[in-house]
Amino acid sequence: MSVILRRLLSGGRAVRPAPCVRYSSAAPEIHERTLIAVKPDGVQRRMVGEIIKRFEQRGFKLVGIKILQASEGILGKHYHDLQKKPFYPALIRYMASGPVVAMVWEGHNVVRSSRLMVGETDSSQAKPGTVRGDLSVHISRNIIHASDSVDVAEKEIGLWFHSAELITWETNDHSDLYQV
Ligand code: UDP
Ligand code: MG
Repeated sequence: MSVILRRLLSGGRAVRPAPCVRYSSAAPEIHERTLIAVKPDGVQRRMVGEIIKRFEQRGFKLVGIKILQASEGILGKHYHDLQKKPFYPALIRYMASGPVVAMVWEGHNVVRSSRLMVGETDSSQAKPGTVRGDLSVHISRNIIHASDSVDVAEKEIGLWFHSAELITWETNDHSDLYQV
């Protein structure tokens, strides 16, 4: 913006130019992917659209989605690390109690960002503004799953999706239709 235009917009007062922002020369990794699953309570409570909306609004890209009745086999593998926990049998019953909507979302730091969007495991500790903090009340019915690291995300995506079910697509804002 020219100095004159900047002055006009500011009512004639001198305005300092915006400080130069330095960006890292490394391109951001925008192809990171994570597994997000709306658990059976979220599907039953018709929260699928609300959850998709939040991820779309944030700017992440949906590259895979399906609804399925999860088998004990897939749930056993998915929650393998929790097998010895006292809540494990109830967790598997809960996750098998109805359909799950499994999704793969892609974007810059999507694993970390989605964990923050999802909130604490215990819904009563989850902050307002998070999925769990806004939409659920109890740790045993916490509505959503999100992978907790990039490595785990890769394994979980491989468990829930065949590679042919994931779509790599390019951003296209269709601006050719909206030129003035
Ligand atoms: N869970 C539970 N009781 C507990 C801890 C966990 O029912 O005391 C369930 C809850 O559904 C949670 C899931 O087990 O989301 C997996 O636990 P994890 O510690 O991996 O939490 P998350 O990664 O989902 O936040
Ligand atoms: Mg976890």
